[in-house]
Amino acid sequence: MEILLYIAFFIFGTVIGSFLNVLIYRLPRGKSPLKPVFSFCPECGTNIKWYDNIPVVSYILLKGRCRNCGHRISIRYLIVEIITGVASVLSYLKWGLSIDYLFIFIFLCVIIAITFIDIDFKIIPDELNLSGFLTGIVYTFFRGDFTVLDGFSGAVVGAGFLWAVAYLYMKFRGIEGLGMGDVKMMAFVGMYAGWFGALFTIFVGSFLGALIGGLSAYLLKALKTKWEI
Ligand SMILES: [Zn+2]
Repeated sequence: MEILLYIAFFIFGTVIGSFLNVLIYRLPRGKSPLKPVFSFCPECGTNIKWYDNIPVVSYILLKGRCRNCGHRISIRYLIVEIITGVASVLSYLKWGLSIDYLFIFIFLCVIIAITFIDIDFKIIPDELNLSGFLTGIVYTFFRGDFTVLDGFSGAVVGAGFLWAVAYLYMKFRGIEGLGMGDVKMMAFVGMYAGWFGALFTIFVGSFLGALIGGLSAYLLKALKTKWEI
């Protein structure tokens, strides 16, 4: 029976992932995340019917194309839905059906949206950092070993450290190495992770970033035609 629960959490995750795709497309383009409610094909403008909007399944059945005009739909849609589904299952595996599941899944969703917007636009919308930061504050009231003070010290240490790096980089290299979006993102991450977690994230993140950055640049090049819409 446990397997049915995993499937349910995966499906729930893909539905949320479908909404994240809307955010990833609309937020950096300055469009409202909620209006219009229904998605439409960016090429021919046709509203996408509900049965063509089923997470993962529709993309595969339509082979990543608009039913009406055959326009290619970015494989990013499928990738985001699957990753969010997996994030939901992993959160459930770790936390069970609990308040922790809810907030950790929210945390991962914001990170997923930020990551994919950053890949395409090299920006992180304030709306995401701020929503993440605020949910992090709310979460502190439900956590046993983590107070709101731990959250704020994480935000200050995380954002402060990254701001100092950005400042020094700018001062000595004369070019922007880190944007303020990254600094604000660390305030959001620190609110969830605390000061130690924030520093850990920065150091491990920088190391992995260098590693994965090189790899994904290569991968994205290979995926380019499927990615761009
Ligand atoms: Zn179309």
